[in-house]
Amino acid sequence: MSIFSRIIDREIPADIVFESERLIAFRDIAPQAPVHLLVVPKTEEYANVTELAAGDPALLAELVATARDLAAEHSDGDFRLVFNTGENAGQTVFHVHAHVLAGGLAEGSLGGE
Ligand code: AMP
Repeated sequence: MSIFSRIIDREIPADIVFESERLIAFRDIAPQAPVHLLVVPKTEEYANVTELAAGDPALLAELVATARDLAAEHSDGDFRLVFNTGENAGQTVFHVHAHVLAGGLAEGSLGGE
C-alpha cells in the first residue's frame, strides 16, 4: 500500500485540506512554496499522470479542477501544477499525485529559482 493510501485510510496523519469521493488533498510535509498541496486520487491504480490520463481522463480533469479551486482558496488563484514522472524526474511516490504550488512564485521561470 502506498504512503498516500495510508493517509487516505487515516493510518498516518496528514493536514488534509480537501476530500471528495475520488480525491484527497493535503499539505506536503516538505513544502517547496508558501502553499504546497498534494492532490491525490484515492485509487492507487495509476502510478503517474500518463497512466491516469490514459486510464481515467475524467479523474485527471477532476484533479485539475480541484487544484484550481484549492489555489483560489489557499492563495490568489495562480498556481503551478507539477507531476514528477519517473525516478529520474524526482518521483518518489508511485501513486499519482499533483503538486499544487502557489504564493510568491512570479520571479522565477520553471522551478521559481
Ligand atoms: P514526488 O517526489 O513527486 O513523488 O512527491 C512526493 C511528495 O510527497 C514529496 O514532496 C514529499 O515531501 C511528500 N510526502 C511524503 N510523505 C508525506 C507525508 N506523510 N505527508 C505529506 N507529504 C508527504
